[in-house]
Amino acid sequence: MFSLLLTLSVFMTSFNDQMIAQSKKSPPTQITNPDKTIVLTKLDDKVWAHTSYNDWNGTTYDHNGLIVATSKGIVLIDTAWGNDQKTEELLKMIKKHFKKKVVLALITHAHDDSISGIRALLNQGIDVRSTLLTAKLAKEYGYPSPSPTLDVKPVIKVGNTVIEAFYPGEGHSSDNITVWLPQYNLLFGGCFIKSLDAKDLGNLSDANVEQWDESVKKVIEKYPDVKTVVPGHGNWGDESLLFHTIDLIKQHTHNKS
Ligand SMILES: [Zn+2]
Ligand SMILES: [Zn+2]
Repeated sequence: MFSLLLTLSVFMTSFNDQMIAQSKKSPPTQITNPDKTIVLTKLDDKVWAHTSYNDWNGTTYDHNGLIVATSKGIVLIDTAWGNDQKTEELLKMIKKHFKKKVVLALITHAHDDSISGIRALLNQGIDVRSTLLTAKLAKEYGYPSPSPTLDVKPVIKVGNTVIEAFYPGEGHSSDNITVWLPQYNLLFGGCFIKSLDAKDLGNLSDANVEQWDESVKKVIEKYPDVKTVVPGHGNWGDESLLFHTIDLIKQHTHNKS
């Protein structure tokens, strides 16, 4: 009996070592929660996308945000889309995988898909920031207000990581901002930028289509070194997403006239 246990435990140990060796060889590039409503995808060494799936009018839609790992903790761009539990679950996944706390969150506009989990962030004492306009709209839409600091202080340094918020003007909404990570040449476009598979401009209830292309052009001029663009919905890619968004705006204007 003893020898059997010994053999078993030796076997288990080597099995465990193998698992550890294997996981060391190829760290995961995608992490999913049990019901697959939240997916984390590695984009760069320290930057991941968080994608949450939410039912809206009977259809399931995705929404992307970012997770930026810094030496001083995690920076979150946008909450998960859904109820507060969804963002609580996102925070748990981040804690488990990154072994770091979320210290700062930026909200890129006051629509549900960017802000709906804000209470979960505030409950954990996380510093949540936005522009003044997003903070004002958040209150109008029944959410607690983020700290309206991004107009005055758009460039934030967390540890050695630089994060820049930019308000390009109206587009998808009056308050949409982009977030630039200069060390990764990565632009989070949010709902202001469309994915290449988007066939139209999507939800236009608060949009300003006349100004939208001027606003996108400002982003193109400001960030000529952009390598990766993450849109609010759909797949990320390179700078062609910016030009695709302009094409969709032209197409929309053309169809209307
Ligand atoms: Zn929106
Ligand atoms: Zn959206």
